[in-house]
Amino acid sequence: MADVTSTWTEPSNTATALLLLGRGSDPASERGVDCPGELPAPSDPNLVARATAAKAALGDRVFVLGHHYQRDEVIQFADVTGDSFKLAQQAAARPDAEFIVFCGVHFMAESADILTTPAQQVILPDLAAGCSMADMAVLGQVQTAWEHFEDLGIAGETVPVTYMNSSADIKGFVGRNEGVVCTSSNAKRALDWSFEQGSKVFFLPDQHLGRNTAVLEMGFDLDDCVLYDPHKPQGGLTDEQLRNARMILWRGHCSVHGRFTLDSVNDVRERVPGVNVLVHPECRHDVVQAADYVGSTEYIIKALDAAPAGSAWAVGTELNLVRRMALAHPDKQIMFLDKTVCYCSTMNRIDLPHLVWTLEELVAGRVPNVITVDEETAKHARVALDQMLALP
Ligand code: SF4
Repeated sequence: MADVTSTWTEPSNTATALLLLGRGSDPASERGVDCPGELPAPSDPNLVARATAAKAALGDRVFVLGHHYQRDEVIQFADVTGDSFKLAQQAAARPDAEFIVFCGVHFMAESADILTTPAQQVILPDLAAGCSMADMAVLGQVQTAWEHFEDLGIAGETVPVTYMNSSADIKGFVGRNEGVVCTSSNAKRALDWSFEQGSKVFFLPDQHLGRNTAVLEMGFDLDDCVLYDPHKPQGGLTDEQLRNARMILWRGHCSVHGRFTLDSVNDVRERVPGVNVLVHPECRHDVVQAADYVGSTEYIIKALDAAPAGSAWAVGTELNLVRRMALAHPDKQIMFLDKTVCYCSTMNRIDLPHLVWTLEELVAGRVPNVITVDEETAKHARVALDQMLALP
C-alpha cells in the first residue's frame, strides 16, 4: 500500500484562498461581524432603563430612526418609524441632530448619509446588518453588464433604474448614467418616466419588483422581460434577447419575500375561508398574481389599519411587521402568509444590547459604527435620488 502521509498547508491569505471556518477574516467581504465594544448582556434587566437614560442624556443631539422590520424592543426607542425612503427623508429633515442612529440595514444608513449634512453622523448599531438583496448587485458586475450593453449599441437607449434597496455604489452608477432610484411605492412612476427617456430599462437589483411593476401595472408581457445573471457570461442572454427586451432585470431578490410561494397562498386559502391575501411586490410573480392585494410596506400598514373588524388577512412581508400589526389590531385576524416563521436575519441583528451600547458610547463622547459614503459616489447617488424626488 502506498504511503499516503501528507502535510496540510494553511491556505495563504490571498484573494482566492478559502478561509477555514472560525479562523481569520476577510475584511473585504465581511463588515463588522464583531462588535468593536463591550456589548451589554441580553439578559441585563436594566437594558430598557439604560437606553431610556442614554437617550434622555443625548436629548436633541440624537435622532433614532426605526425601520418597520425592526424588533419591538428597538422600535420602542425610535423617534420615527417608516420604510427606507421615509426614514432617509426624515433624517434629511433633522439637520440639527448631530447623530442619526439608524435602526435598519446598511444601504439605508448609506442613503441617510447621502441626504444629511456633512456635520451629521449616521450610525448603524451593528455593522453586520446588511441586506442580502443589496449585496446581490456589486458595482464591478453592473459595470461589466453596462459595458456589454455599450458594445451591443443598446446602452444609449437603456435607462438604469435601481430600487432603494441597493448600495450607494449602485445608486452612484445609476446617477452617472442618467437613471433614477425608485421605491416599492413609486416604481411605476419611475418606470413611466424612464420609458419617456429611453426604450429599455435596466432594473437593479430586485427582479421581482421590476417584473411585477412592468407586467401587472404597466401591461408588459413576461416576454418583454429578460433576466440578467451576473454569474453567467453576457448575463446568460443572447445579443438578440438583449436587443429585443424592454426590461432587463438584474438577477437579485429578497431572501425574506422570496420565501413565499404559490403553495403558501393556496394553503392559507384552504385553511382560512374568506382570507384576504396581501403581499409586498418583492414577492415572486406567481405569488403576487395569486394575491388579492399587493403594495409597499406603507400600503400594507394602511390596508390593515383600514380593514373592517372581523376580517382575515394573510400577509406576505417581514414577520416583525406582521406580528406588530396583529398585536395592534386584535379585532382582525392578521397572520403571516407562510407556515414557517422567518424574520429578516440582518434586520434582526439590531437588538436592544446593540442600541444600548451605541447610545452609551455617544454619551461617553465616542461615536461608533459611522457609515460614510465617499463624496464622489454620494454626488452621483444624490442625482439619482433627486431624480426620484422630482418624478411627476
Ligand atoms: S427584508 Fe429583504 S430587502 Fe429588506 S433588508 Fe431584509 S433581505 Fe434586504
